[in-house]
Amino acid sequence: MRAKKYIQQILENLESKHSDKPEFLQALTEFFPTLEPYIEEHPEIEDYNILELIAEPERLIQFRVPWEDDEGKWHVNLGWRIQFNSALGPYKGGIRFNPNVNENILRFLGFEQTFKNALTSLPLGGGKGGSDFNPNGKSEREVMRFTQSFMSELQKYIGPDRDVPAGDMGVGHREIGYMYGQYKRLNRPEPGVLTGKPTNQWGSFGRTEATGYGLVYFAENALWNHNERLSKKRVVVSGTGNVSTYTVEKATQLGAKVIAVSDSQGYVYHEEGVQAETLKKLSKRGRGALKYYTELYPEAEYFKDKSVWEVQMKYDIAFPCATQNEIDREMALNLAENCKIKALFEGANMPSTDAAIEVYKEKNILYGLGKAANAGGVAVSALEMAQNSQREQWSIEEVDERLQVIMKDIYTLCSETAKKYVGDQDNLQAGANIAGFARVAEAMIQQGLV
Ligand code: GLU
Repeated sequence: MRAKKYIQQILENLESKHSDKPEFLQALTEFFPTLEPYIEEHPEIEDYNILELIAEPERLIQFRVPWEDDEGKWHVNLGWRIQFNSALGPYKGGIRFNPNVNENILRFLGFEQTFKNALTSLPLGGGKGGSDFNPNGKSEREVMRFTQSFMSELQKYIGPDRDVPAGDMGVGHREIGYMYGQYKRLNRPEPGVLTGKPTNQWGSFGRTEATGYGLVYFAENALWNHNERLSKKRVVVSGTGNVSTYTVEKATQLGAKVIAVSDSQGYVYHEEGVQAETLKKLSKRGRGALKYYTELYPEAEYFKDKSVWEVQMKYDIAFPCATQNEIDREMALNLAENCKIKALFEGANMPSTDAAIEVYKEKNILYGLGKAANAGGVAVSALEMAQNSQREQWSIEEVDERLQVIMKDIYTLCSETAKKYVGDQDNLQAGANIAGFARVAEAMIQQGLV
């Protein structure tokens, strides 16, 4: 009761303080209530008012990014780095280039990242960054000039033992390569300042695949615990970026059939099974290229301007890998009642609204939330940092083996924590939130509440 009151009071304060930041508030309302049994058992959390402290980023940096387009016209975008929490290590998290990036989105992502990183049990703090720059339709040179300008400012705040950015939506090998070049030019060659680098520049093998592969390893562990396997399961994956492509690849390797995939403009239904190779080929044709799928496979069907979560067909497992809040309550009800899915694992960050999560619980859908299920990407980033500081490069086999162990350990930590605090090993949401929070909060207290 005491813990519940404390959580409510803090949430009320934060709601009035951040009423203009809906996604950040959503991340807080998803997280804090699940901590109740832990806080009940740890009165020091309330004594030190850790909830209010942990909801505040340590530092929030905003800067302007001027850049010149190919016609010689000058533009200015905003850039940010949110250094959320360094209790467990240097700030770590991706950079997102997308027109919908703002302080609200980055606060939500930085908050989530802090606990996701804690779940890996690797020495990682939490951070996030980005810009409202829209890379779509920009030439290679425009992207290069913009990225160099972005890094000219960002480089003042980062370093291999301080803050280590990586990619996220709109930022891949190409942008990380430009960022590293600019950092090196203004500082010194320190490969460990960024992760997700190309493998010929001290990037880790397996980093590109890591989030998608890790997601599937997490799912496989959760299914094993129920004497189930991915093999022969029908699955649906949203998104056509890195996370979705390698989720499709690994799920298919393990014997599942991917019957539908989507991008921002529609979805494809292909009863014979979507192959990752097809998605890789299509991605070269730019944004929205899924509409060309039926040119390659005339027996498949393409549905324009429709969400894949509205499909009414039976399948077993959903992997939302596109973006935040892609599944609302209505869609969750469709997944439960019409599609009759048994499990859902999140490759994207916060793809389900709070109301959708309620439906998963009511309908007994095994639910692996993003913080735990998609931590494979950042985990391999930590392996990249380790390789960089040892001046080594491990083989793909070694990285993949370590990733499998990390994802198994994350699943075990979540289910054991859930069993201990809520008496239900399948409440992976509570398990992940409590386990991640406990690691960060304990370290903050040991460090004198900073
Ligand atoms: N952007 C990824 C995430 O959301 C990876 C971050 C990283 O590798 O630092 O976890």
